[in-house]
Amino acid sequence: MEHDTYHQLTLPAAMQAEIIAHAREGWPDEVCGILSGKDGAAISLVRARNVAEDRQINYTVDPQTLLRQFDFEEAGEEMIAIYHSHPSSAAYPSATDARQATYPDAVYLICSLQHPDAPVIRGYRLLPQPFDGRAADFPLQSVRGRDDFWAYQHPAPDAFYILHLMPPVGAPILLKVRIEEVALRP
Ligand SMILES: [Zn+2]
Repeated sequence: MEHDTYHQLTLPAAMQAEIIAHAREGWPDEVCGILSGKDGAAISLVRARNVAEDRQINYTVDPQTLLRQFDFEEAGEEMIAIYHSHPSSAAYPSATDARQATYPDAVYLICSLQHPDAPVIRGYRLLPQPFDGRAADFPLQSVRGRDDFWAYQHPAPDAFYILHLMPPVGAPILLKVRIEEVALRP
């Protein structure tokens, strides 16, 4: 699929403004939505409901909105991006964002309201990688004090997360998720 090669996303200024407006309306909760597009360019934006339990620190796009992907495909488009807001943190994927990233072909847009008068939108690809490392090789830290979710964040330019998940039943899971920034152009 040629969109694997996209390193930039055309996101018209009006659509950036719409994402920022949505983020501000939803504050202090995180908001989310999806974008259709084609050939590396966003075409339309669909606001979603954030159905996560802890909406101030997390997001989950409601299932009905995710189904719109099939409408996009019928129109010859695709779900080119998924956006969500960070009400008080930077425009960078959190360990939880990396854990929930199930669309490697989509651009994950994050709108930060950390500085309310200067909102920032950045785009990323979140790419789960085959990985056979050992948890002990990384300085893992608990994610938000949880005892079943630990993460190590490796900085750019070779940015990735190591995620260590401890399910209630079964063996711990160790995942590597590569983070590639996608340039946005209006
Ligand atoms: Zn996030």
